[in-house]
Amino acid sequence: MPTLGYGVFQVTKEECERCVLDALKAGYRLIDTAQSYFNEEEVGRAIKKSGVPREEIFLTTKVWLEHYGYENAKQSVLESLRKLQTDYLDLVLLHQPFGDAYGAWRALEDLYEDGKIKAIGISNFYVDRMVEFINFNRIKPMVNQMEVHIFNQQKQLMEYADKYNVQLEAWAPFGEGRGNTFENEVIKAIGEKYGKTTAQIMLRWNIQRGVVVIPKSTRFERMVENIDVFDFELTADDMNAISELDTATSSFFSHQEPAMVEWFVSMIEERKQNK
Ligand code: NAP
Repeated sequence: MPTLGYGVFQVTKEECERCVLDALKAGYRLIDTAQSYFNEEEVGRAIKKSGVPREEIFLTTKVWLEHYGYENAKQSVLESLRKLQTDYLDLVLLHQPFGDAYGAWRALEDLYEDGKIKAIGISNFYVDRMVEFINFNRIKPMVNQMEVHIFNQQKQLMEYADKYNVQLEAWAPFGEGRGNTFENEVIKAIGEKYGKTTAQIMLRWNIQRGVVVIPKSTRFERMVENIDVFDFELTADDMNAISELDTATSSFFSHQEPAMVEWFVSMIEERKQNK
């Protein structure tokens, strides 16, 4: 799995094909999409148009909640394969830790054993749910994609991911800029030493901790900037200074908050009614 990839959350249908073509041109070889981003077709078209051989690209999608349960999850992955114009996926994740995740997981296990998916994993499974899911399934998740950035460093989760050999992947590696991550003085000062931007320092820091990063940008020059992080190394002092910035709190919301769980439930209900 590449240590750095390109994510297409909040990239509109109109922009997505151009963005993925640009990302591939900039050198990205991991593309992260999801059923709930509604842009799998555009991702598939861009990959086809790019001329980059399919086997050089690590392609991820995620099963959305309303497709949980064994049969629905299986059908939804087959539909993702069709939309993405490919006969296999490199990684499929369960997007959220709710509902019949176990049924959906059994579908991923079967598709994995059939060779339709090369690796299977989870997303937004906090440390307790991750440990539970690892221990109560036949095939354990290979990846957990979580919110990981300078203000929410996921130190305990990292310990357990290491223990069970699960690869941690950081969504929102800039925290989408919340809390002024791009203007952070500690990150800026470190960047000045290396002639690097704050974005590059935030990505490099996660990569050095062994965390895969999938930054999103719709601008070609930023895509180029974000992938240019392999020609320098942060020192132990730099890493320690960044470690101090951790607040161990989400910049978005907690999946453990009951009101948030209810919000997910109502969203699924609403979508069912609108079908
Ligand atoms: P992010 O990558 O932390 O931040 C994206 C924001 O940063 C955009 O507003 C972008 O603006 C800006 N940006 C990018 N590069 C920049 C740079 N070099 N300098 C200044 N600003 C820059 O947030 P994200 O998109 O939420 O997360 C990344 C990927 O993680 C997503 O695309 C998705 O694939 C995945 N994700 C997964 C989950 C999940 O539940 N599993 C949740 C969220 C995200 P411009 O586009 O204008 O450049």
